[in-house]
Amino acid sequence: MEDCIFCRIAQRTIPARIVFEDETVVAFEDLNPQASVHLLVIPRKHLGSLKDAAPEDEALVGHLFTVSARLARERQIDSKGYRAVINTGEWGGQTVFHLHVHLMGGRIFHWPPG
Ligand code: 5GP
Ligand code: ZN
Repeated sequence: MEDCIFCRIAQRTIPARIVFEDETVVAFEDLNPQASVHLLVIPRKHLGSLKDAAPEDEALVGHLFTVSARLARERQIDSKGYRAVINTGEWGGQTVFHLHVHLMGGRIFHWPPG
């Protein structure tokens, strides 16, 4: 996906503060952080949103969350707690259409999120 901003970040053809990468996922700092820790964890494979996750993507989607949990431990936001969310589609607040987990911590989050 040449015109997908997150594919380009994963391919390192546009810059981002990448904090973790392995064969299947990449994590980087959000450009417009909404908390002191705000990372985005994405699959290298282009999936437009969670709606596009197929049964074959089950391990990949799980990996996004286990990597998120590992990064939360590394950033020391796990003891107080944090939020790991996937905004999905227009009404879900999604603005970049490449699947991503927001890992946010360092402040209190409320529920429902509004
Ligand atoms: P969404 O609204 O789709 O759930 O989240 C998209 C996120 O991507 C937003 O938090 C936004 O700040 C972030 N974002 C958008 N463009 C860029 C970019 O070019 N680089 C980085 N690092 N983050 C971006
Ligand atoms: Zn993409």
